[in-house]
Amino acid sequence: MDRSQRIPHEPKSANRFEAAVSLWDLDLRLLDSSKGFQDHTALASKKDLTLWEAYPALAKPVPAALIRQAIDTGEPRTIQIDTPKQGKCNLLVSLIHTGLLVIETKAASIGPPSEDNEKAQLIHQATHDVLTGLPNRRQFSAELAQLLPASGKIGPALMQLDLDDFKPVNDTLGHGAGDIVLKLAAERIKETLGQGGTVYRLAGDEFAIIQVRPQQAFEAEQLADALVAAFKKPFIVNGISLFVGVSVGVAIAPRDGNEDEQLMKAADVALYAAKKEGRRRARTFDPTMLIVVEQRELLRRSLRVALQRDEFFIEYQPLIEPPSTVVGFEALLRWRHPTLGIIPPAAFIPMAEADGLMREIGQWMLEEACREALSWPEHYTLAVNLSPAEFLTPGLTDRVSQTLDIVGFPAERLELEITEGVLLERTINNLDTLNTLNVLGIQISLDDFGTEYSSLSYLKNFPFDTIKIDRYFIKDLMQDTKSQTIVRSVISLAHGLDMRVTAEGVETPQQAGWLLQEGCDRLQGYCISPPMRAERLEEFIRQGGRSQSTATTFDEIHIRP
Ligand code: C2E
Ligand code: CA
Ligand code: CA
Repeated sequence: MDRSQRIPHEPKSANRFEAAVSLWDLDLRLLDSSKGFQDHTALASKKDLTLWEAYPALAKPVPAALIRQAIDTGEPRTIQIDTPKQGKCNLLVSLIHTGLLVIETKAASIGPPSEDNEKAQLIHQATHDVLTGLPNRRQFSAELAQLLPASGKIGPALMQLDLDDFKPVNDTLGHGAGDIVLKLAAERIKETLGQGGTVYRLAGDEFAIIQVRPQQAFEAEQLADALVAAFKKPFIVNGISLFVGVSVGVAIAPRDGNEDEQLMKAADVALYAAKKEGRRRARTFDPTMLIVVEQRELLRRSLRVALQRDEFFIEYQPLIEPPSTVVGFEALLRWRHPTLGIIPPAAFIPMAEADGLMREIGQWMLEEACREALSWPEHYTLAVNLSPAEFLTPGLTDRVSQTLDIVGFPAERLELEITEGVLLERTINNLDTLNTLNVLGIQISLDDFGTEYSSLSYLKNFPFDTIKIDRYFIKDLMQDTKSQTIVRSVISLAHGLDMRVTAEGVETPQQAGWLLQEGCDRLQGYCISPPMRAERLEEFIRQGGRSQSTATTFDEIHIRP
């Protein structure tokens, strides 16, 4: 580096802000500087001063990336920073043949200090979110646009974050509680992110992160997973534990898009995939996701008319009690799509819920299942699933009791299955709803137990008749002693609370034998029978509960005396 090239010192003018000019080598150590720089910079005389020491604000990911870009591309960049002495400043950074030239000028126009403060405050307000103090969408757009297009192979990572189950908090506990959750969520995101990027609040419960790291794809995925994990802990608001998760969509420039709009769309599509796959997870964009989006739009349109077109039908799966008595059936919804064939409920129920269609579909399901069950022998019960959206719509108990009246199906033979998620959402009214259903004589089962929150307080406060242990714990029961311990404890917990236990997803006679030996009250699963169409069910009942479709019959389930 040619150290003889000196920067001419600018003439001093008493009240004017003096531009601070500095020249740095490519390791970003100071080579030369103007008087203005020496006046403004506390450490100006330090030996081997680095750019980062002179302007600590530049070490933040976004400005640091802009500096790297200026060096890599040779194109000058303007970076706005806060300096302790001068307030908001613009730094014009450009590569010249002797090194990196940095010219600092004051960002706001010169005026009396109070006006400057006001201006700074206005700027802050315009670029920051009042509630969380995070930079807002405007700031986000400006910073993203500054970073793109990325010059090298690796540019910034963009993450779109969306809280899961935030709306019920707002709707049920009020906006005050919602605001607290948003603030705590913002803190949690910032803490997890650390120094590697900036977090923005875009709107409502939507946040974004711009991350700039050397090993971008890998580090972005690591961060996204850490964020999801960080949201597994509850938020404590006014003494109540609220479980609000986060879904994250990741896109990396330039791979997934090298313009701001394109990159945002990619992150959005990835976020959408994370939501669709069950929320509370992170997904990185891949182009096949776009096809899924189109398919989904197609599916969504046909779902709206599926009910009128009579495309839904029900399958029934038996539940047995030891030694091998069929006690009832769980009704499972199916959709026969005219061109795509049979679509499983996991694929369309979340969509129906999101589009507000689930109430109508659920109503059809309940009525149809009760009608079909009328033709069964009277001692068989009918279990029907209620999705959270159905459970939370007002007037559920009236609708259920009216349906039972219209169809003439006895309440005592109906079991409603709800998942733990439902209980989080409107705690006091939920208890009312459950109690009213109980009073009507309807049985209530807690479905998929063990997969969500498994908070024991629900078991204390809600009048369940049955706990259904999720198949997650059943599938490796014979190999995994931990699953055995959990299942054993759930059985004894339920019995201690005077509740029945059903094991779901029992696939082998060995599992069935083990469960019955441990005192599990009821079994359901392919080992007994997969779900059957109504026609097949008639045959199954006629044959006294022997499924044609599996080799296994109850006689093959070896139960120890
Ligand atoms: P779920 O309530 O846990 O239903 C049991 C699911 O496990 C069913 O899946 C059933 O076919 C499957 N299954 C039964 N035995 C076995 C087994 O031995 N091994 C394995 N691997 N799986 C087994 P399906 O029918 O795909 O339903 C998935 C979920 O969709 C249900 O889970 C339930 O949450 C929901 N669902 C189904 N029908 C309705 C409905 O009418 N309304 C609502 N709200 N949700 C429904
Ligand atoms: Ca169920
Ligand atoms: Ca279940």
